Amino acid sequence: MKTVRQLLFGLLCVVLLTGCEIQKEQSGQETWSREVFAMDTYMKLTVYGANAENAVDAAILEIQRLENLLSAADPESEVSVLNREKKGVLSEESTYLWEKSWEVYLETQGKFDVTIYPVMKAWGFVGEEFHIPEEGLLNQLTNEVNASLVEWNKENSEISLPDRVELDFGAIAKGYTGARLAEQLKKQGIKSALLNLGGNIQLVGNKPDDSPFRIGVKDPDGTAEYLCVLSVADTAVVTSGDYERYFEQDGVRYHHIIDPDTGYPADKGLRSVTIVCRDGTLADAYSTALFVMGTEEAIRFWESHSKQFDAVLYTEDGRLLVTEGLQDLLATALDYEVLRVKE
Ligand code: ADP
Ligand code: MG
Repeated sequence: MKTVRQLLFGLLCVVLLTGCEIQKEQSGQETWSREVFAMDTYMKLTVYGANAENAVDAAILEIQRLENLLSAADPESEVSVLNREKKGVLSEESTYLWEKSWEVYLETQGKFDVTIYPVMKAWGFVGEEFHIPEEGLLNQLTNEVNASLVEWNKENSEISLPDRVELDFGAIAKGYTGARLAEQLKKQGIKSALLNLGGNIQLVGNKPDDSPFRIGVKDPDGTAEYLCVLSVADTAVVTSGDYERYFEQDGVRYHHIIDPDTGYPADKGLRSVTIVCRDGTLADAYSTALFVMGTEEAIRFWESHSKQFDAVLYTEDGRLLVTEGLQDLLATALDYEVLRVKE
């Protein structure tokens, strides 16, 4: 029964979203779209209004600049040089990302930890040579790798990493990039844009016809095309899920979001977490962190941060949970529960 409903809903979404495309053309505004492969994912930038073409070109240059700065997989990036040399002075942007990561590390009790890179390597997620690591190695890494071991001097941005510790901004780089691009586009006078950075969505303003954008939240099983569609504007919509990057061995799925307490892929009952937040960097950090927390802890975290963000949680047992700020912005054919802050 559910499958049929999901299929029907999938069809409805295609119609809805196709409708959105048609409106785009009817708005009579200049529209410019370009696709690019960067940060290990496909990105599509769509910008509306006068000067859209130049704005898209400038945005692509900015993506490439940030990739060169932040990619831990690029041996020349600032992060890679630091990971090798263990000591250095961070640039202004890496300082911003490190400080933001540290704040989120503290407020999530270490569920979000940008020093997880050695664990990612142990699983072969770096270089795509997937394998299950020895338990002893994971125990050792989870003991020796931890953001609180990083020495950081706020006065002069000097940073130093203990032997095994390496940084990886992979869980926030796309969110930060979206936030930077939105800022840049607004400075260029752009009033409307939809930036899809590999599933990390950053919106500038409304659609050209002044109605909100409609953003589909993917169904992890792909049964229905979307779990729900959100009508939102001028915000980031970022999803972390177990279906984005994974390998399977003996019928078990090992995905790329790691619980820093165990060194294993997070397994606390969630299939996907979508965060809606005006700050794209935070949206990205929180989507990863709440995924690691699992359902109950994620709900409690939202209750104490409900002014900062809204969320859609999809659980392993098929529950769709939506925070109260989204209830009037949501379309879905599925049953869902609204999460409210307790008085
Ligand atoms: P995606 O990159 O698919 O958008 P995320 O934003 O959730 O998904 O980021 C996942 C990436 O973040 C991983 O590939 C890894 O580099 C890094 N990562 C994995 N687990 C954690 C964690 N607990 N804290 C911080 N970063 C993590
Ligand atoms: Mg993230």
